[in-house]
Amino acid sequence: MNAAMNATVLVINSGSSSIKYQLIDPATGSSIAAGLVERIGEDGARLEHTHDGLTTERDARVPDHREGMRRALALFDDLGPSLPDAKVAAVGHRVVMGGRRFDGPTIIDDDVLATIERLAPLAPLHNPPNLVAVRAGLDLLPDVPHVAVFDTAFFHDLPDAAATYALDREVADRHAVRRYGFHGTSHEYVSAAAADVVGRDLADLRQVVLHLGNGASAAAVVGGRAVDTSMGLTPLEGLVMGTRTGDIDPAVVFHLVRTAGMTVDDIDDLFNKRSGMRGLTGHNDMREVHRLIAGGDPDARLALDVYVHRLKKYVGAYAAVMGGLDVLTFTAGVGENDPVVRARTAAGLQFLGVEVDPARNDERSDEPRVISPDGATVSVLVVPTNEELAIARQTMSVV
Ligand code: AMP
Repeated sequence: MNAAMNATVLVINSGSSSIKYQLIDPATGSSIAAGLVERIGEDGARLEHTHDGLTTERDARVPDHREGMRRALALFDDLGPSLPDAKVAAVGHRVVMGGRRFDGPTIIDDDVLATIERLAPLAPLHNPPNLVAVRAGLDLLPDVPHVAVFDTAFFHDLPDAAATYALDREVADRHAVRRYGFHGTSHEYVSAAAADVVGRDLADLRQVVLHLGNGASAAAVVGGRAVDTSMGLTPLEGLVMGTRTGDIDPAVVFHLVRTAGMTVDDIDDLFNKRSGMRGLTGHNDMREVHRLIAGGDPDARLALDVYVHRLKKYVGAYAAVMGGLDVLTFTAGVGENDPVVRARTAAGLQFLGVEVDPARNDERSDEPRVISPDGATVSVLVVPTNEELAIARQTMSVV
C-alpha cells in the first residue's frame, strides 16, 4: 500500500450463516480487498479473501459470527492489506431492517444497537446476525466509527398510501405492520446512476428500477425519492424471486393450514425457500431455467411466463402511480445479465413508450448502458448495482 492511498471503508454484510466484507476506496470506487466467511456454525466453514488479483481459500471451524469477524480481520493481517496501512476511516454495516426509526446512514452507538435489536421481530432472519457482526466489529475495531446502512432507509418516507396495508388500524399500529421495502441501498444507487447515464437531473425523472437478483424488487422513484416499492413488511412480497413466491393471496396460508395441516413455520419455509422459480422448476438460477426451456420443459416455460407477467404488471402499475415513465432500469444478477428477461418485460409496453433495441440489449457489458433505441420516449437502461460501494459512500457521508 502506498502512502498516497485514500481513506478506506470496510463494508460488512452479514447473513444468517455468512459474513461478506469488502475494503473500498469510496473516492475512486475501487475495491481493494474482498472476501467472505461462509457456513458459519456448520461443521466446516470456508474463508475466501481476494487482494491484488489473488484469491486465497481456507477451511476453518467458525462456530459463530464473532469468530467469523475475528477470522475475517485476521485474513487482512495474513494476506494484506494490513488494516492500519489501508487507513480504514470507518466500518459500514449493512443492516436489513431500520423500521420507522432510521431514514439514512447512522453512526452506531448503544442506543442505535438497542433499536436494531428491538426491530429484530420484524426481520428475525436478518437483524440478529447483522447485530452480532456489528458488536464483534465494534469490539475488534474500536478506534473507528461504525455506521449502519439500512436496506429500508430509502423507503422510510414512502407516501402513506403506498406504505399502508388495508388492515385494522389498531392491529397494524400495535404490531408495526406496514410496508417497509428492502434493497433500498441498491434502488437509491441505481436510480442516481441512471440519471447520470441519461445525462439528466435526477430531480426531473420518473423512474422504475427492477432489481432482479435471487431476491427481486421493483421501485418507483420520482425526483430521486421512492414513491412505491414491491417488497413490504418483509422481503417476501412483490415480484417472483429465485425461491420466494412474491405476491400471493394471503388466504393461501389459511387454506394450507386448514387443508394440508401445515404449520406457520412450514408455510414460512415454503413461501420463502421452496417457491418462486425453484418451486416452479426445481431451480432458482435463471440460467438453469433457460437451459430447461431450451430443452422443451413446459414447467420452465410457464415459470418464465409467470416471472415476466409479474414484472410487466409492476412496470405498468408504477407508471400509473407516477403519472408517466422516463427511465426503466434493470439491475442485479438477472437484470444485468439476462437479455431474454429484459426483452420480454419490455415487449408490449410500447404504449408506455418502452422499447428495447435488440442489438443493444444483446450486447454483453459490465458498464451502465442504454438499451432503448435513440429517441425513444422511455430510456431503458442496464445499470450494474454496487451495494458495497453505496454502503461505503453512505458511511463516509456521516463520519
Ligand atoms: P444476485 O442476487 O444479484 O447475485 O443474482 C443472482 C442471480 O442472478 C442468480 O441466481 C441467477 O438467477 C441470475 N444470473 C446470474 N447470471 C445470469 C445470467 N448470465 N443470465 C441469467 N441470469 C443470471
